[in-house]
Amino acid sequence: MEELKPQRIIVLYFAVILTGLLVNIVSFYAVSRINQPALPIYPASFSDGQHNLSYRLLGPSEPETASFRASIAAADLKKTGSGDYALLIYQLNCQAYRLYFNQTLLGSAGDMETARSNIWNMLNCFYIDHSLVRQDNELRIETKSIYDSGLSSLPVFIVPLHALPDYLGAARFFSEGINLVSIGLTLFGALMIFMLYLLASPKNTAFLYFSGALFFMTIYTLDYIPFSHVPVAYLTYKKMMILALYLAIALGSLGIYRFFHTRTDKIIALATLVGIIALEIAAGDMATFEHICNYYNLMIVLNILSWLFTAARHCKERAEARLFFSGAVFAVLLTAANGYISLNRHSFKLSTPFSYALLFSTITIILFFSEHLNRQKQLQIVDMEKAKTYNASIRDGMTGLYNHAYMVSVMSQIAHPYAVVMADIDNLKEINDSFGHRCGDAVICHVADCLKRHVRSSDLVFRYGGDEFFLILLACDAERAKEVMAKIEHCLKTNGLRLNGEAFPITLSGGIYAVEREEETESIFNKVDTALYRAKSKGKNDIGIYEL
Ligand code: GH3
Ligand code: MG
Repeated sequence: MEELKPQRIIVLYFAVILTGLLVNIVSFYAVSRINQPALPIYPASFSDGQHNLSYRLLGPSEPETASFRASIAAADLKKTGSGDYALLIYQLNCQAYRLYFNQTLLGSAGDMETARSNIWNMLNCFYIDHSLVRQDNELRIETKSIYDSGLSSLPVFIVPLHALPDYLGAARFFSEGINLVSIGLTLFGALMIFMLYLLASPKNTAFLYFSGALFFMTIYTLDYIPFSHVPVAYLTYKKMMILALYLAIALGSLGIYRFFHTRTDKIIALATLVGIIALEIAAGDMATFEHICNYYNLMIVLNILSWLFTAARHCKERAEARLFFSGAVFAVLLTAANGYISLNRHSFKLSTPFSYALLFSTITIILFFSEHLNRQKQLQIVDMEKAKTYNASIRDGMTGLYNHAYMVSVMSQIAHPYAVVMADIDNLKEINDSFGHRCGDAVICHVADCLKRHVRSSDLVFRYGGDEFFLILLACDAERAKEVMAKIEHCLKTNGLRLNGEAFPITLSGGIYAVEREEETESIFNKVDTALYRAKSKGKNDIGIYEL
């Protein structure tokens, strides 16, 4: 099976995500090029007598409801085309609103009674029937806002009804679809890294923290999904969302701490958590909470900087550190870009945690595959060690032939017919006595070499013990075995050992027994042993076939 190539999977992952994005960016670009003129009604054109519809945070004692009016001349409407119109509203920050055109209700969003709606990121369209249009028209938006108010990115647009689908297509993706993709990405990342935690041995709690961080990031992303009705008071809902965001950040820092054991990350993480919990307990109204949160967001920057410094310090020794470092650099750049966009609210604001979701899930998948590779390497090393130990346990250290123990286990598994040869070096004791044990050893090794060289690769050669050898010749009869032994004898004769320049004669005696049917190992041993004994008795240097 072809080996799993992590790089390929990561490239594929990017290719799929970027293709999806590209398709939507192209269609978004196409929308921006639509020739059909749209009538923008800018926030400054609306007034409630005191304020216009530009984005602002409300003071704690300001009334929750307001009524903003803008006048629209029929001539301006006509410039876009005649007939019925559609009105588009995106990111009108409030908990609910109603829209009137010349006192006629066009529609509403959110819950005007309870304000338990999360609609700040909603893209809505309303329809203006041509019969409602007069010479001078009044567009009125009644809002219910408990902490902020106004349009935060685009003006209100009026477009001819027939052009509406062009405007809605990609706009829906960039206002809502992209956040659903973010939820998918962070949830996917959370699961991947949780799997890493389960698979890693020994357990690495850093992965558990990272998994938690991505899970809470998923919860936080829900704040970007419009809900017409949330089941709790809006302040409670927002507090839950913000807590999820800070839990994600703090768990990220705790994960980094678990990875690199730098105490600063832990201290910053805990301080961040304690701070946000205190803030959530203390803040009794949404406006105060939002005001303080705007400043408290600096803690996120502090956490990300802490990841950056910790990772930078370990870049040299650990590959993961380099990965975290690159991730932290991207996170810093993204945060700086987001900060710039929110300070400069006139530009179009893409409100989505998508870029963070993509960044963190990508880090997760790279981490997952690099850990997977590490694991595979470790397993390979363990396998190699096991193979080495096993090999050592079945071989004889001096000759490298298979040993006695292995022979006993192999004999019971071999399929007949096969021939067994037992061979014994002649007069080794004398050689030992005359020339020393080292010379005796050399003789044993030389015989082992000769035996190995003259059998097929499928045959097995064993050193049974001392100067005794066994050959198992597969699919072989006694005569053929005798031919093999004759070749071995010839080899010993012609390639004998040389001692002090003189040829040193080595001879073998052997017994052969051909196994043709199922037979007990013990009985086979006895038979070859008998044949060998007879050959020795005949005066040695002889190979005999077992006969009854
Ligand atoms: P025979 O011709 O009857 O086989 O006589 P032999 O001298 O070879 O004696 P035998 O086979 O009965 O005994 C084997 C001898 O081989 C006993 C021992 O001295 C010697 N021997 C056994 N193992 C080793 C070894 O690992 N190295 C050396 N140098 N000698 C060994
Ligand atoms: Mg011997």
